[in-house]
Amino acid sequence: MPRSIFGRLAALTLIFIGLCALKPMPLSKPYRFEPTNHQSPINQSPLHQSPDWGFFAHKRINRLAVLTLPPQMMVFFKPNIDYLTDHAVDPDMRRYASKHEAPRHYIDLDNYGAPPFDELPRQWVDALMAHTDIWAVKASGDTVLLWGDKKPLQEVWQRDYKNWFYSQLMPRFYQDDETLNADSLRNFLEIMGRNERPQAAFYKEHLSQHGTLPWNLQRMQRLLTEAFRQRDSRRILKIASDMGHYIGDAHVPLHTTSNYNGQKTEQHGIHGFWESRIPELFADESYDYFVGKPEYVERSEDWFWQMVFDSNKLVDSVLTFEKRLRRTFPLDRQMCPDMRSGVMSVMPCRDFAAAYQDAMNGMVERRMRAAIHAVSSAWYTAWVDAGEPDLSKMGAPVISEEERKEEERLRKNFEQGKILGRAEEH
Ligand SMILES: [Zn+2]
Repeated sequence: MPRSIFGRLAALTLIFIGLCALKPMPLSKPYRFEPTNHQSPINQSPLHQSPDWGFFAHKRINRLAVLTLPPQMMVFFKPNIDYLTDHAVDPDMRRYASKHEAPRHYIDLDNYGAPPFDELPRQWVDALMAHTDIWAVKASGDTVLLWGDKKPLQEVWQRDYKNWFYSQLMPRFYQDDETLNADSLRNFLEIMGRNERPQAAFYKEHLSQHGTLPWNLQRMQRLLTEAFRQRDSRRILKIASDMGHYIGDAHVPLHTTSNYNGQKTEQHGIHGFWESRIPELFADESYDYFVGKPEYVERSEDWFWQMVFDSNKLVDSVLTFEKRLRRTFPLDRQMCPDMRSGVMSVMPCRDFAAAYQDAMNGMVERRMRAAIHAVSSAWYTAWVDAGEPDLSKMGAPVISEEERKEEERLRKNFEQGKILGRAEEH
């Protein structure tokens, strides 16, 4: 029986729709597969916001780090391996709850000139001092910049200033209070022989906006060592899992540059491509995770810096190879539809991702392996520095009601919220 014209049209339409669904989406301009905000028409699930290293890689790094530990540590870490895995992504969730969190995940090294970055203070207080402006409000109402980022304080006063900075500014910095005690500043100015006589004073710091990752790692190492010393099982687990996250970030080249998502070179989306898409596609099926035993780190403060410098050396390759590949790889095979948790999204195709990975000669795998080894080495070093406490005698960590509520709050913020500070790509 002959089919009606409408029947034929309907059949043709169905075939066309089917073909469209199968064909990878063609690309005419630099791709963009990460939503820039939560209102994006595609990808509204938090799962798709491609946080750094992706949730997948962060969890893998912490989990695999546990498996390399010596028996004296394994006795405590192995029974808690699920905690360390699940909580590997807490720091990313905190970015939705506090504006102070985002800078801890990166450092824009290009903001500080070129390697070996001699001008960049390796200690937190020195760095904060160098990049904080001190303002005075005079009796006339005029506001004057006393010294700061672009107006350095004379060398001769640096030591006295550090003492003053410690006692006056540091506590306020952590309390989110930008005012300063005018009397105390006036006294300090008088000692210097200056007569600005401030009626009020405040400060502005310019360090955080460019990231604080290496200083944050130094701090975490101290906190973890202290937790081991106090045999505080709850804190050990919490800090160790956070630390695994930040060390993971420090191994990602794009966490060390202001061009962190290729936004300055028309490569928007490259951040998630490198650290989320590639590991998700290939890590479990082809990466060699055998990284050997952890090593004791003699000078961890320098070691953390070396970590970000090593990542930074790779930034050029990360950007150049992708740009080259995007010009040479067939355009209609670069981006593919990807359905997850019922949400349609567009991602770099598997073959395109494989070609990028090959062009970089396995860099993603190498950095992930280095991260696993670094995480276990940092944990191990903290344990040794704490006097190798007997972890077999530690009780199971108890989560207080307050902590449970805090976890719940973080999760809620994450699910509903917006990142405070730099956008999600970092
Ligand atoms: Zn992070």
